[in-house]
Amino acid sequence: MMNRGLLAKVLFEIPVAKPFDYLVPEGLVLETGSYVLAPLGKRMAVGVVWKIEEAEIQSKSRRLKYVSSVFPTRPMGDDQRKFIDFVGKYSCAGAGRVLRMCLPAADALAPAADMPVIIAGKNTPKQMTKARQKVLDKIGNRAWRVTELAKAAGVSGSVIQGLIKLGALQRTLQQVDENFATPDPDRQSVELTPSQQETANELVGKVMQQCFSTILLDGITGSGKTEVYFEAVAEALRQHPDNQVLILLPEIALTQDILDRFAKRFGAQPAEWHSDVIGRQRQRVWRQVASGQARIVVGARSALFLPFAKLSLIVVDEEHDSSFKQEEGVLYHARDMAVVRASMAGCLIVLASATPSLETLHNAKSGRYGHLALQNRPGSSRLPMIGAIDLKQHPPIAGRWISEPLRKAMENTLAQNQQVLLYLNRRGYAPLTICRACGERIKSPNTDSYLVEHKFSGRLVCHLTGFSMAKPAICPACKAENSLHPVGPGVERLAEEISILFPEAVCEVFSSDITKTPEQIRNLISRMQAGLIDVLIGTQMAAKGHNFPNLTLVGVVDADMGLGGADLRAAERTYQTLTQVAGRAGRSHLEGIALLQTHQPEHEAIDALLARDRQRYVDAELGLREQMGFPPFGRLAAVIVSASSEKIAHQAALDFAALAPATAGDIEIWGPSEPIFAVVRGRWRRRLLVRSSKKTDLSGYMLDWRNKYRAGNKVQIKLDIDPYSFL
Ligand code: ADP
Repeated sequence: MMNRGLLAKVLFEIPVAKPFDYLVPEGLVLETGSYVLAPLGKRMAVGVVWKIEEAEIQSKSRRLKYVSSVFPTRPMGDDQRKFIDFVGKYSCAGAGRVLRMCLPAADALAPAADMPVIIAGKNTPKQMTKARQKVLDKIGNRAWRVTELAKAAGVSGSVIQGLIKLGALQRTLQQVDENFATPDPDRQSVELTPSQQETANELVGKVMQQCFSTILLDGITGSGKTEVYFEAVAEALRQHPDNQVLILLPEIALTQDILDRFAKRFGAQPAEWHSDVIGRQRQRVWRQVASGQARIVVGARSALFLPFAKLSLIVVDEEHDSSFKQEEGVLYHARDMAVVRASMAGCLIVLASATPSLETLHNAKSGRYGHLALQNRPGSSRLPMIGAIDLKQHPPIAGRWISEPLRKAMENTLAQNQQVLLYLNRRGYAPLTICRACGERIKSPNTDSYLVEHKFSGRLVCHLTGFSMAKPAICPACKAENSLHPVGPGVERLAEEISILFPEAVCEVFSSDITKTPEQIRNLISRMQAGLIDVLIGTQMAAKGHNFPNLTLVGVVDADMGLGGADLRAAERTYQTLTQVAGRAGRSHLEGIALLQTHQPEHEAIDALLARDRQRYVDAELGLREQMGFPPFGRLAAVIVSASSEKIAHQAALDFAALAPATAGDIEIWGPSEPIFAVVRGRWRRRLLVRSSKKTDLSGYMLDWRNKYRAGNKVQIKLDIDPYSFL
């Protein structure tokens, strides 16, 4: 028997790229984008309606199941569904796995507890006063708490009570979370310098156009990029009361400062989104973003997958930062995907950095992106001088890491009651523990990575897998006693050296092992800003974005650290990090200096940094990339094959390589080869690297390739499009 009926195609958060067909029971009102509950196998699962179509339904031959129920949440927008499809295809992960990043815990789809609220009523008051008009102008079609509405409209509670009596407002119970305060675009801004103002005007003009475009906001550290993009945010808020803004940051450590600045500028705390926002708070943010009530979101890369009702501006701050690349689960680059999301939402995206990525600079040069530059710091603040200390000429004494010139500079700075930042991107006490008796280097179990000694916690820790153990008293290999010896410096060991060199100085360590929670980070930053710390020793957490007005000396303990290795972006990253860390110095009227300890002052990246000649460095690096056909001139994809034994991994990699689809010749394949971490958590690994020209659909090619391979259950194949890690 044939019947015409409604068919809903529902996508689930499972590793299947395509939606499944369901019947829609009579009386159930669905839209595309509705969040629904439907039977999936033996369980009920949450899914999203991807499409609804009318179809001939053969009731007997096709045993279709029915959608069970629909959640009262605002349906997912077209732009987000398109975005999910895009990321699913581009990353080769499939739309279902991307959807998983977009769905909250099932509880968040159910409405929050009831709360008394005020909504617009049916009557218009016969006697209109100014205060009443203010309230009615503000109310719109959303629910408010009485105090919140009174504050937003700038009237007393009695005006509201009066309007309720007249039926112009109505009391009701609504299932709402506590609302985020409404940001005020015109609350308080600094007086911009003429060049900042000009740049802000350009951004504001773009926001007003309400269409997709990408702009690189390229300004030296401390030039006021944040103040300038705040103006774009303000304009987006002014444009429409439902407009929402997303600010993406690479580090939780940066969030607090930006949140405080937002609160000052707009008189309201934005919604915050990162892995430390958990439980009810996480649900509240998700719901309020979906309803459109949360208008500004400051978050880490995963905020890109929030269900914005009306996204009208995205800012990616520190756009060059490699932590925007997600390295687990669905592998994607949040900056690149943010550009895609903005194009689908039809809004402006601003990429801000003092050291833009070569990809972004190339796009700006070719005219795909707009390019706005800020060349100066406001007021009397100047960029710090940068000098090199050649470690060949000034080697520190054995077991120490601070050279004499750096020690002297620190002494001078501290004598003037100014602050010092020592930068060393090595967590813990010592990166390697070696047995003096037998030469054993202690590794993580079943993993190709050395254990790092952490003295504060008394443990040896694997930074790759998270494994840790108490530091053993005897060598695990030869059982010798008192033979385990730390090699090389970590931030904790440097703190020990400072306590010897400057016993009077207050020294603290800023690294993810010590300052873990947002609260601890916030505390440390405010102590530093208040001048309570003399010497701050920091990993990359301390390098970016912070404003420490009394910090005048930055010492980079090992400027060469990132330069080695097979990573195509090693030099670029070193250049960026050192520029950023140097940029922490001299952010007020005080003059700053950055000293780089290096064995290779002549290295291109370091030399360009000393000469303050970014263009020379960028041109040289882009020239190299063009010759090699590497990004931004070509595309890259990596294949990571892993298995429970070396033999299986090796054979699987060879089998996989042999299946590479033939093409017109645009594709080049390297490997399989043994990576630096050949075994991680007991899984043996092999890698392939694939390169194509820009015009090739490399994701499509990789997906065809993977679909040809039938992996046994012992083998895992991971595809990494646009890889940033080559380990
Ligand atoms: P960036 O984001 O480029 O590093 P910020 O926007 O953080 O720069 O500005 C650096 C510091 O200078 C901040 O404390 C900021 O408030 C201040 N600042 C920037 N522009 C001005 C201005 N026009 N007047 C006063 N202070 C400013």
